Formats: sequence, structure tokens, C-alpha cells
Amino acid sequence: MKWLPRVLLCSLVTICAGCATHPTAPTHPAESPARPAPLLLISIDAYRYDYVERGFSPTLAMLEKSGVQAASMQPSFPSLTFPNHYTIVTGLRPDHHGIVNNTMLDATLGKFSLGNRQAVSDGHWWAAGTPIWETAEQHGLRTATMFWPGSEADIHGHHPDYWKPFDEKVTADQRVDQVLAWLDLPPAQRPAFLTLYFDAVDHAGHTYGPDSPQVNAALRDTDAAMARLVQGLKQRGLFDRINMIVLADHGMANNPLSNSVMIDQLVPLDQLQTVSMGILAGFNPKSDSTVDRNHFAAVEHQLEQPQQHMQCWDKTRVPPRFVYGNNPRVPQLLCLANVGWRVTTTDYAASHQGHISIGEHGYDNADPLMQALFIAHGPAFRVDAKVNAFPNVDVYPLMTHLLGIPAVANDGDYDAVKDMLKPSER
Ligand SMILES: [Zn+2]
Repeated sequence: MKWLPRVLLCSLVTICAGCATHPTAPTHPAESPARPAPLLLISIDAYRYDYVERGFSPTLAMLEKSGVQAASMQPSFPSLTFPNHYTIVTGLRPDHHGIVNNTMLDATLGKFSLGNRQAVSDGHWWAAGTPIWETAEQHGLRTATMFWPGSEADIHGHHPDYWKPFDEKVTADQRVDQVLAWLDLPPAQRPAFLTLYFDAVDHAGHTYGPDSPQVNAALRDTDAAMARLVQGLKQRGLFDRINMIVLADHGMANNPLSNSVMIDQLVPLDQLQTVSMGILAGFNPKSDSTVDRNHFAAVEHQLEQPQQHMQCWDKTRVPPRFVYGNNPRVPQLLCLANVGWRVTTTDYAASHQGHISIGEHGYDNADPLMQALFIAHGPAFRVDAKVNAFPNVDVYPLMTHLLGIPAVANDGDYDAVKDMLKPSER
């Protein structure tokens, strides 16, 4: 009975010996002298590509100058927070990784929304994607997330090695200090992949609009946290030895209160199931009954006619460039507001007076106002290099390359972004 395991063991040893010099070889951090430089992925939520030019982000400007600056990075559709953060760590479009909106319905799992802690931390919602931290761990690398959508969920039964339940009260400085503390761990426990997330720019953008002094103050505050990070890395001799990617999930557009499509004034909504409202509204038939289906078809026909401030499609007729509509979680009928507009109802507008965002995202992901920040800095990256705009699905294969781990099937293209690396690092 003993020979079979020995044969298997020999095969494994042979396989490992054969791939020991290959960059994707499984290694353990404590055992590997050729451990990859740590990779720190930083998201500044809703940091639009052009915000750097306002002059409130000197640390980001310094990183651009001594690293790589993309003209912009295109979010995936819809240009919302959860779908895009999960795209960045999986390389999959939202239609493919299943987080198709911040608010969703699933036939088996029920309702998903950002405030629903139970749903957000349920790995089943996220299971169609394999986040980079899962693959990194399978290859012997430790991982740590100082907040990231998906990191709270037990995806395929796994979390990052170190992670925190989202708590907006944790200050930007505390988040930075936690990342530095993780980098201070002994080599065997030290993460090779880390995330850091800032949300102040997004909050100010929603509440006061992207052109407000409050957004500029948030840019200043977030840059101060970035300066603290850079200083902490320099004190540890790590600043030139860590690869950093600083990006955003989407941009931000002005959304004046008056720019509301009252959809209930166009069609009767009471006979539909409303899944989401706002920038991307979604509806299903109320039931499978013939009456409800016929009613739904009539409403859909009416809304699919040209509309002044939004566009509606059956999910099978969404323009192909959005790569959206095949996932069963995408509602049957979608209404996308034109940039600067929202889709709402008379009742909702009346009951939420004073609490309606005047800055929004979620729009057409090709719109200039939805484009996001991208900066990269570190030993693998070129210095003072500018690269063209690219889609955010390409970040994932770039990161797996940097970590020396295999990329699982994804929608990204490493060849499209490898020029930002030094030739010796490609
Ligand atoms: Zn966001």
C-alpha cells in the first residue's frame, strides 16, 4: 500500500524540480531567496483620471514622475464600485465574475446590497471569479487586504491571510499604518500582495459633486495619507523595493438634483419587479405568469423607444461594447441614465429629499468623466513613463506577472500593458 503515495510524491518532486527556475514556480516566502518584490495595490475610490492636475496630490504627482502614468484607465461596465474592484483583482468583466451591480438579485442567493453584511461576506456571490489573493496563496505567498470588496467573503472557502471587515471609521492614517505593520512582519508571515483602500474622495464626490471644494479637501487629505505611506516605506528601506499600483475604480460626474428621470411617470412600475434604481436601473417581470410577462413586454417595448435622458434595453440587446447582459443576475430590462442624469421615481425623490447624490458614476464606461486614475511605481516599472489609456481588466495579468504566479482565465491582456515594465521585467 505504500508504493502508490511514493510514486505520487516522486512525481510531485519531479514536477517541482522541473519548474524551480520558472517564474511561476510555487514557492514559500520563508524558503525562497528569489521572493518577488511585494506588490501593494492601492485604490482611491472615484479618483477621476484628471484630478491629479488640480494640484492637491503632490505625492501622486511624485509617484507619476518617478514611475508610470497612464493617460487614464477605463472602468468596466457598469462603472460602479463593487463590480470594478472585483474586476481589478480577477481580470474578469462584471458580467463574467458575477458582481454585476452594487445591488443585485440572485434566484438562489436572494438580495445583494452594499449595506447587507451577510450577503457581502457570502462567498457564493463572488464564486465565479478567483481573486488574485486566492491564487497567490495557492503558490505560497501571503496576502493582506486593508479593505477591498470581496476580501470579506469566504470565496471558495478562503479569505486573504490578513483582512479587515470594512469600517469607514478607520482613518486613512490607520489604514496606512496597518499596511506598514504587515510589512514589518517576519519574512515567513510577511504578505507579498497587499491592498489599501481610501474612500474619502468618493464620499465627497457623491455628496458635494466632483467640482466642489470638499472633493479638493478629500484629495489633499488622501494625499497626506499617501505621503505617510511613502515616508513609512522610505524609513524601512522599502520605497524602491516595493511595486505599487495606485488606481481608482471609476470617475465622477456632476448630477444636478433637477436631472431626474421619473420613470414611474413614463410607465406603470407596480407590475414590475424593480431590482435597482439610480444610474443603471433594472427590472424583471413580477412573475412568470403570462399576464405579468405580457405586461412586462409592453412596458419594455415602450421604454426601448428613444428616451430623452436615458437608454433602455432588454438584456439581450445591450450594445456589445458593454460586455453585459449574459449573466443571470443582470435584470431583464436595463435603463442607463445619460451622463449627468439619474433614474428614479416620484416617491423615492420625495422621500429622500436632501439625501440624493449630486455626484454620480455608473454611467457608460467609455464616457470621459468615468475614466479612472492609474499610476505604477517600483523596481519593476519604468521611470517617468507615460502610457496610453487601457481597460482595467488588464491590471490583473500585470499583477500576476509581477508576483510570478499563473493567471487564471481572464478578460485582460498582459501584452497591452507590459510596456510599462522595465524591459528586464517583462
Ligand atoms: Zn467607487
